Amino acid sequence: MAFEGLSDKLSNAFKKLKNKGKLTESDVKEAMREVRLALLEADVNFKVAKNFTNKVTERAIGQDVMESLTPAQMVVKIVNEELTALMGGEEEKIKFASKPPTVIMMCGLQGSGKTTHTAKLAKMLKSQGRRPLLVACDIYRPAAIDQLKVVGAKAGAPVFEMGKKNPVKIAKEAIKHAKDYGNDVVILDTAGRLHIDEELMEELKNIKKEVNPDEILLVIDSMTGQDAVNVAKSFNDLLEITGVILTKLDGDTRGGAALSVKEVTGKPIKFCGTGEKLEDLEVFHPDRMASRILGMGDVLTLIEDVEAKLDEKKAEAVAKKMMENKMDFNDLLQQFEQIKKMGPIKGILGKIPGLGKQLENADIDDRQIDWCEAIIYSMTQAEREKPSLINASRKKRIAAGSGRKVEEVNRLLKQLEQMQKMMKQFTGKGKKGKRRAMMK
Ligand code: GDP
Repeated sequence: MAFEGLSDKLSNAFKKLKNKGKLTESDVKEAMREVRLALLEADVNFKVAKNFTNKVTERAIGQDVMESLTPAQMVVKIVNEELTALMGGEEEKIKFASKPPTVIMMCGLQGSGKTTHTAKLAKMLKSQGRRPLLVACDIYRPAAIDQLKVVGAKAGAPVFEMGKKNPVKIAKEAIKHAKDYGNDVVILDTAGRLHIDEELMEELKNIKKEVNPDEILLVIDSMTGQDAVNVAKSFNDLLEITGVILTKLDGDTRGGAALSVKEVTGKPIKFCGTGEKLEDLEVFHPDRMASRILGMGDVLTLIEDVEAKLDEKKAEAVAKKMMENKMDFNDLLQQFEQIKKMGPIKGILGKIPGLGKQLENADIDDRQIDWCEAIIYSMTQAEREKPSLINASRKKRIAAGSGRKVEEVNRLLKQLEQMQKMMKQFTGKGKKGKRRAMMK
């Protein structure tokens, strides 16, 4: 998958910051030098890489470090936000016409995956309840019409073709046909060439002028890296596209095109192709992509933290009890101890990919663990081992003893019960299966 090398290198750059209590300007600059090299090695456009690291440096130096984050985590957070912004920020949806049919013009070089993605898009739109019509406007490549028919049939979408007629005429007739037959989206599969040439561009411009498409989606092959970005720039200069479909991300180990397209062309990546099958099409989410790039590295840090701080033997014992479904309040108490060793909860959760951003404004109070502990400490040993003993009057006593409310005692009892129930789901699997399920 894309970004493997980049993820590793970024995580190395951040590792060096990890043990610093306070970051100096030169720490940040040194880390950003490494980030820039990593981006260049991932085939990111050099101007994009430079702008990016400049932005991060500017923000990282002189920024107040949030209380719950270490300085290194703060830098990762800024890089994450800037990576998201670099790839377009918000995801971009298809703009549908207020009056159907919506016309989507697909364009791109030969072999970029244009025909395949015409069908993928049709399949996705169909699943959303739309009725797309595919149109064969590539009249030059001998097998193009047949290929569209084959993939169209697989996607369950009708194909409109007129053989070797003028593509502008074909497009116009197709739109008429769509109106007559109730197709609310028309996807034009236009001709490609091996290289951008004037004749092709003229033809595409003519189609654009005559049918005024709602979307002009350029299909580019991510495996061609910066070439793909240059193609995008040329197409956009000549045709003014509305978005990009980045294909073959499954085979792209570097990720340079994904990171550069928006910045270089100003146009968003709307979808990405992740395989040859028709269902291998994803809406491009810049924030998820950024987490994917940074996520693994950060998860590794989390794992390292846990490994360093967790008392292995105690954890094993709890795990064993959990598997035997014998978990009681003593075990919960031990777990709380372990969690507390790892630092503030927000910091721990923030390292889970995708969660970091959502937690920014979340109010997580670490004292909750202390309160739960107080409740358990107010229980007798017998109660901790056999929670079913805890009746109404015991609950009152425990609440009074811990200075908490009875509802909180109830909540904790419920939590233990839920954990026991969850563990029950793993029983019945083989021993290995149980362990694996727990590790997830
Ligand atoms: P066109 O000439 O631009 O219409 O390109 P095609 O749609 O014919 O695709 C060219 C080749 O790329 C075909 O073999 C497709 O199966 C393959 N292809 C298209 N998209 C993807 C993708 O997202 N991932 C992978 N692995 N292969 C793809």
